[in-house]
Amino acid sequence: MHRAADLVADYLEHVGEYPVLPKVAPGEVRAALPAAPPQEPEPLDTLLGDYRTLVEPNVTHWNHPGFMAYFAITGSAPGILGETLAAGLNVNAMLWKTGPAPTELEELVTDWLRQMIGLPAGFRGHINDTASISSMLAIAAARHRATGGDVRTRGMAGRADLPALTVYASEQAHSSIDKAVITLGLGHENLRKVPVDAEYRMDGFALSAAIALDQRAGKRPIAIVATAGTTSTTSVDPLRAVAGVARREKLWLHVDAAYAGSAAICPEYRALLDGLDEADSVVLNPHKWLFTPVDCSVLLLRDPAELRAAFALTPLEILKTGEPGVTNLMDYGPQLGRRFRALKLWFVIRAFGVKGLQARIRAHCALAQEFASWVRAEPGFEICAPHPFSTVCFRAATGGAADEENTLNERILADVNAAGPVFLSHAKLGDRIVLRLTIGNIRTERAHVATAWELVRAAKERL
Ligand code: PLP
Repeated sequence: MHRAADLVADYLEHVGEYPVLPKVAPGEVRAALPAAPPQEPEPLDTLLGDYRTLVEPNVTHWNHPGFMAYFAITGSAPGILGETLAAGLNVNAMLWKTGPAPTELEELVTDWLRQMIGLPAGFRGHINDTASISSMLAIAAARHRATGGDVRTRGMAGRADLPALTVYASEQAHSSIDKAVITLGLGHENLRKVPVDAEYRMDGFALSAAIALDQRAGKRPIAIVATAGTTSTTSVDPLRAVAGVARREKLWLHVDAAYAGSAAICPEYRALLDGLDEADSVVLNPHKWLFTPVDCSVLLLRDPAELRAAFALTPLEILKTGEPGVTNLMDYGPQLGRRFRALKLWFVIRAFGVKGLQARIRAHCALAQEFASWVRAEPGFEICAPHPFSTVCFRAATGGAADEENTLNERILADVNAAGPVFLSHAKLGDRIVLRLTIGNIRTERAHVATAWELVRAAKERL
């Protein structure tokens, strides 16, 4: 145990010395390991040795300060401590009785988060593994509300009396919404991808038009998913206007704020997320931008009874316990067993304090804005989308044919990522490939961002 703690501490101290992407070919790790399990116990020394030589160097280093791809994340020290202690306890908090402290800490810490982002009292939180599951649960609750619980009892297949149930999200919404409608049996073709405006935000008129079209065709709209911080550009849908449509049409409004919801802990960013308070449900991932190790996704619900109604059952006799008025977390989704995720979030919020977390979010946004200013000032480069938070989409622009420009940017990306010190990703906006730099790692400093920019410029010069 003590040696494992040392390994973690040493790793975090030296993670910046690794290339962010491991120099390993597909299949190489597996080929270096025995194909069959050992028959005899192996000494811990051997296990830790293999971890050190075969595993640690061959991961993509998400905790590296040069990790600026996707949404950069951080397993911060307080979060790692919480995760470790939770593993030691090995609690399965399916019922209050099987985990009183985990259950009550989950209620408490998600209420802290609610207060931190300025949502009204009454919203209640529920911790899941990922935003994908949180959004799926929200849409399941929407379906339950829209059908009066009928689908829960009778299902959807083979029913002439049930029209197609439709869900609306922007073209820029995350694919987890597609997967949610697929998983829930709503049918992928019943997810409407609403067009976006020039700043990649859902077009409110197109939303209303899509709903009206479906109603005329006899379909039954059930939910709108707005995104606050889209994956490609971090655009924010016009939440207040979308909420107006949801209210008028009596639709569930779910807001996917998996990334940018964290910015709402800083009062100055709340105006960008205006309307969040009108949602029926909001998902925010502390494992994205609140320095909590993967996995930790918080689903905040205006009325948690609606989620409970969609999933709670009279349990098997073995799961019946006598405490009145307690929360049994197994009632809020399909899974019975639950990890104790609240502990790490509780540690993170206490160890940094709200002010410490705000300072880091502000520092990340400031670094991203500075990076954008470098791009803007450099001939031959352009900014490709508004960048309200800590993510910047940009590209080398030669004025040549679209395909040539795309190829150039792809080659720049490959060149930069092969160098080692940083890892960026790309996105596609319309038919343009763009480069995407995001700052979310607690160890990222100005020097790392400057290195990224130098590598990009040098690659463009060379190619
Ligand atoms: N929503 C948005 C806006 C995202 O960017 C992502 C992932 O990056 C997700 C949802 C999915 O998150 P998770 O991996 O927690 O399911």
